[in-house]
Amino acid sequence: MTTVQFLVPVRDAERKVFDRVLELADGFGAVAGDYDERAEIAVGHLDALHDADLDRAVLPERVGGLGLSYSVFGRLVCALAAADPSTATIWTMHAGSGVALAEITFDTLGAYFAEEFLVGKRFANALSEPASGNRFLNPQQEAVAVDGGWALTGAKRFVSGSEIADYLLVNALVDGVPTFFGVVPDDTVTVIPIWDTLGLRATRSQLLAFERTVLRAEYRGRRPGPGDFAVIPAGLPAISLGIADAALAALVEHARSRVILGAPLSHQQWVQHEVADVQIRLAAAHALYERALWEADNALPSFFPNLSRAKYLANKVAVDVAQLGVRVGGASGYLKTSPIQRHLRDAEAGQLMAYSTEVLAGVIGAEVLGVPLPE
Ligand SMILES: Cc1cc2nc3c(=O)[nH]c(=O)nc-3n(C[C@H](O)[C@H](O)[C@H](O)COP(=O)(O)OP(=O)(O)OC[C@H]3O[C@@H](n4cnc5c(N)ncnc54)[C@H](O)[C@@H]3O)c2cc1C
Repeated sequence: MTTVQFLVPVRDAERKVFDRVLELADGFGAVAGDYDERAEIAVGHLDALHDADLDRAVLPERVGGLGLSYSVFGRLVCALAAADPSTATIWTMHAGSGVALAEITFDTLGAYFAEEFLVGKRFANALSEPASGNRFLNPQQEAVAVDGGWALTGAKRFVSGSEIADYLLVNALVDGVPTFFGVVPDDTVTVIPIWDTLGLRATRSQLLAFERTVLRAEYRGRRPGPGDFAVIPAGLPAISLGIADAALAALVEHARSRVILGAPLSHQQWVQHEVADVQIRLAAAHALYERALWEADNALPSFFPNLSRAKYLANKVAVDVAQLGVRVGGASGYLKTSPIQRHLRDAEAGQLMAYSTEVLAGVIGAEVLGVPLPE
């Protein structure tokens, strides 16, 4: 295995988890296509990641974990996504909600949620709503006061890994204010099985219905904010970068092995030029992402806007690389047996996940032009 270099100092414990996850990723990659075909969650992969201490690693030190740096975290998600983007997505959502619940309830039940996360309980983000569009932090559904908390009737959509979750991170309006809760899904929470998608099929990001589900007062947290470990914003660019890396590797392998009129496809000039174009843009996306992670590790305020830019670029480049893969792959890349078609399907999902490239373009464009954004 080649030794990966980081822009920040890496502790031995971080390196150990990182190396172990890289080893596991090799095995995940070999079967990712099968799980995708069956649209089945690779529960064994998630168990193996937990056993490799990844959950303890991502939990910040202040809530009892190892506290991975952003730089190591980003590389980990990227490597996982290159091998198995559905597992990478479920784990990122699980880590995002588990870490968030430990942090936002720090003064009350934080230690409890941290302990549950450390022993291997599964968490999922149930934030997106039918009427909130991409603005998943702005719930539109109002929870009404009941004994012991507030009751939510409505739906949360595209909840990755929800069918295996022990806890959900849910938001709703309480007295008109977005409010966050940990929820143990009981029989008031049901799955509406819509999940049969083009890509990231093994995430099983289902639609959940809530029927007077009690959002318990003691499981209420504060709004996530600056200073919390930003798992989802830091993880989402890596999912697209990993998919793009895998798509480029599949393209290169095909171009080198496919012989047309006596010479490998890789010798054709159009292939070289187009590969140069996507490889350079992919390297630029990685560099922007690395910079944003470094800024996050150094608590520079620019890290958040740059993570948004990195997500935008990574989402777009992943689709470009994957589309080129389909052209280079020809009809053989179009066969279900080829990973090329799966990379294209998976790449499309990155730009849909919040914040979508459209929403990001609106925010970044307004910022560049000096146009004030609504609160
Ligand atoms: C594979 C996958 C996994 C996901 N996992 C989770 C999860 O675990 N938890 C979770 O809570 N959510 C999850 N999501 C939901 C996701 O993050 C989005 O919030 C959700 O997809 C938005 O709804 P929609 O895709 O139907 O798009 P719509 O909101 O209907 O968007 C349609 C179009 O309108 C644009 N648009 C939407 N809102 C705005 C706006 N405010 N301004 C400008 N343009 C806008 C979009 O960019 C898009 O082009 C997942 C989605 C996918 C695809």
